[in-house]
Amino acid sequence: MRPSFVLYATLAVATTASAQAPPLRPAPPAAPVLIKAGRLIDGRSDAPQSGVGILIEGDRIKAVGPLAQVQGQARGARVIDLSQMTVLPGFIDAHTHLLLQGDPTAESYNEQLLYESTPYRAILAARNARIALEHGFTAIRDLETEGAMYADVDVRRAVDRGEIPGPRIFAATRAMAPTGMYPIVSDNWELELPHGVQPVDGVEGARLAVRQQVAHGADWIKYYSDRRYYFGPAPDSVLHSWVNFTDDEARALVDEAHRLGRKVAAHAIGSDGIAAALRAGVNTIEHGDGMTDSLLEVLVAKGVYWVPTVTVAYYVAGPRGGPWGPMVEHQRRAFTRGVKKGVRIVLGTDVGGFPWTELNQAKEFEYYVQYGMTPMQAIKSGTSLAAELLGQRDLGVVAAGAYADLVAVPGDPLKDVAELSRVRFVMKGGVTYLSP
Ligand SMILES: [Zn+2]
Repeated sequence: MRPSFVLYATLAVATTASAQAPPLRPAPPAAPVLIKAGRLIDGRSDAPQSGVGILIEGDRIKAVGPLAQVQGQARGARVIDLSQMTVLPGFIDAHTHLLLQGDPTAESYNEQLLYESTPYRAILAARNARIALEHGFTAIRDLETEGAMYADVDVRRAVDRGEIPGPRIFAATRAMAPTGMYPIVSDNWELELPHGVQPVDGVEGARLAVRQQVAHGADWIKYYSDRRYYFGPAPDSVLHSWVNFTDDEARALVDEAHRLGRKVAAHAIGSDGIAAALRAGVNTIEHGDGMTDSLLEVLVAKGVYWVPTVTVAYYVAGPRGGPWGPMVEHQRRAFTRGVKKGVRIVLGTDVGGFPWTELNQAKEFEYYVQYGMTPMQAIKSGTSLAAELLGQRDLGVVAAGAYADLVAVPGDPLKDVAELSRVRFVMKGGVTYLSP
C-alpha cells in the first residue's frame, strides 16, 4: 500500500517520447520553484513556523522566510502548494543495507549469499533505493553490502547520474571482521563459502583492507567489533559480548581510515564490544544494545554518535530468540538514560535487516518518542543530527544554501510522530519525486 510514485513529475524538459513518459535523466528545473509551506519544521529550530515560503533555484534552497517576503523574490517561479501540509528536511537513515532483503535468521541470510547473484541483488538494491526515497529518506548511510562486494558504490553511481531514483548514498562497501568471525562459516572445510564481510587479520591487514575499500569507493569504513552476545549470571545485568579484533588491529583500522579522510562505524552490541570500539576511536556505535552508564558518558565526552537501530531489534527478536528479546528491553532503558545524558543519538534503522518491502523506515521515529525523545528531538535525530554525523552541513536542514531535499506530511508530526510515515511529497536536489 505505497503511495503512487510520480517520477520526476515537475521536470520541464522536452522529450521526443510521449508527453507522459518521464525523462530518463532528471535535472533540477530551469525556473525557480516557490514552495508554500503551511507549517515548516526546519530540522534545527526548536519550534515550527507557519506560513513559510521556500524559494529553490537549481538544486539548492535560495531563501526561506515568511511567505509574503519570499514571494517578493520569487517572480516567475513555479509554485508548489503545500499550504495544507507540514514541510520538513528530507529524512536521513544512518544505517541501511541496500543489498539485503531481511535476515531474521541465519537461513534467510545464507539463502541470499548462496543462491542470489550479486547482479540480482543489485537490481533489488536499486528497487530499495527507490523505496527509501518514496518514504522520504533523501540520504542514507549504507553500512555494508553483506557479501555483495562493492555493489553499493554502483548503486550510488547510478543514483548520482540520474539513471535510477534514490537517496544520496554514503557507502561503506564490504565492512570487516577477522577470519572466522562473521557468516557464512560452515563445518564443511572443503567448501569456500561467500563471506558477508572482507576477512581482515593483523595490523598490516587492517591498513591494507581500509586502503582497498577506499580505493573502490568507500565513503565510510565499517567493522564488526563484537559477536556472541550474552547476559552475565545474576545479579549481573550487563550485556556482554566476544570482541572480534585485538586493540592493535582495531586502532590500526581506525587510524588508517582517518588518515584517508574516512570516518568509522563499529557494529558493537555488547558492552565489551562497545568499550573496545570506543578505545579504538570510532566515530559511531551501531546498535549499542549493551550501553552502560559509564559507556554513555564516554560517548558524550568523546562526541561519538550512537545509532540504535530499534526497528530491526524488534523485528529479529522473535525469530532469533535467546538473548535477542531481553536485549531490546536493555536497549530501551539505556536509550532513555542516554537521552537524559545528552548522548548524540542519530536515527538508523538497519533496514535490509528487515525487508524494505514490509516496514517503512520512518517507524524508527516512533520508537525514539516511545523511548523518551520529544517528537522534535526525534526529527532532529533523523535530519540535522544525522547530517552532522555524515559531516554534511548542507543536508538535514531547510535553510538558505542547503540542498533542496524536502518532504511533506499531511498532519502535524509534533502531535503524532507516526505522521512521518505518511510522506506525500519528496524533493531531492530540487527535483520532485513524489507529489501529493
Ligand atoms: Zn546493519
